[in-house]
Amino acid sequence: MPDRIYLDANATTPLLPEVLEAMLPFFGVSFGNPSSAHRSGQRTRAAVERARAAVAALLNAQAKEIVFTSGGTESDNLALSGVLQPYLDRGEPAHLITSAIEHHAILYAAESLEKRGVEVTYLAPTSDGVIAPDDLQDALRPHTRMISIMLANNETGAIQPIGKLARLAKAHNANLLVHTDAVQAGGKLSLDLAGEFKNVDLLSLSGHKMYAPQGTGVLFVRKGVSLAPLFHGGPHERQRRAGTENVPGIIGLGRAAEVARDSLTFGSTRLFALRDQMETKLLQRIPGAVVNAASALRVPNTTNLRIPGIDAESLIIALDVQGIAASFGAACQSGATEPSHVLTAMGLTSEEARSSFRLSLSQMTTTEEIERACEIIPAAVQRLRSVAS
Ligand code: PLP
Repeated sequence: MPDRIYLDANATTPLLPEVLEAMLPFFGVSFGNPSSAHRSGQRTRAAVERARAAVAALLNAQAKEIVFTSGGTESDNLALSGVLQPYLDRGEPAHLITSAIEHHAILYAAESLEKRGVEVTYLAPTSDGVIAPDDLQDALRPHTRMISIMLANNETGAIQPIGKLARLAKAHNANLLVHTDAVQAGGKLSLDLAGEFKNVDLLSLSGHKMYAPQGTGVLFVRKGVSLAPLFHGGPHERQRRAGTENVPGIIGLGRAAEVARDSLTFGSTRLFALRDQMETKLLQRIPGAVVNAASALRVPNTTNLRIPGIDAESLIIALDVQGIAASFGAACQSGATEPSHVLTAMGLTSEEARSSFRLSLSQMTTTEEIERACEIIPAAVQRLRSVAS
């Protein structure tokens, strides 16, 4: 659908052509099982290990610290459950600190651990969607075993001060483990696990948010961190994730990591400029429009726009008809759409949250597309407003 304007990259990114090209042989001639001793297995093993090294290089980590998973959801569940379940098994008290703005992959994993006996604190963000270090400091307890705070929020793009939060947590207790869901930061921000993020012990990535295929992910597990596996089976991924590897997916993720490493600076600068140009135009052309989390540091591709008096769900449908794919930050639960938990945690009313929607650009987004979107969106808002009045 070449005429469509895709502004929903935080939901999923298109596959890069070079990623697809790298994957293709692994659907064909290179089909060996990487655990097989024969040559066709060993060739595949070598390719998987090259992909692992590429992901490690993107994170400034060691290859053996990279665990391939089926995506961000599995990585998040593995991190939380893998660290905290052993405390429950030993009957020791365990406290987890997370935030109210996490993705449901973290929130529901935390809820499940809570039902099993883990104490959980959900930190509220500031009105700009950021977790304040002082709030973390106040929440730390002697038996806090883990903190899990996302690096970039999927709805607002707000970047959390993970380096600082991790330092604080380690100063409180050097044995406490720090996890960050970096799914919306992969390929958008530089992630240096030997530098700024040297106090981060576990980090989740998802392939389909960084131009690799859906159903692929990574959990970085710092050397020395022990993790109880979620799955039981073979000794894959150094006993941390049983199951024959998704070889084509892993190869795609490795290639995407190489591209991200090469193009991060240039790609981010271009996206920042394009996103800011879009925001400026939309704010000029839509009376009353406001950017949610505007004064937070944000990833370069995300805008969350609130348009008073507009039902964002209706706007998304109208934009879809006009050829624009955007997203309504809400979860459909039991057939009813709930206002975004992220926006309401930031202090927006349900009505304000329901009038907010997200535009997220990809590396493939062009200036022409943004110019067209900045014509179509204000016109659609005007039509909805005139119907409502
Ligand atoms: N964490 C965040 C911040 C996300 O945005 C998403 C997906 O939207 C996930 C986790 C889940 O990742 P996956 O779709 O790969 O399971």
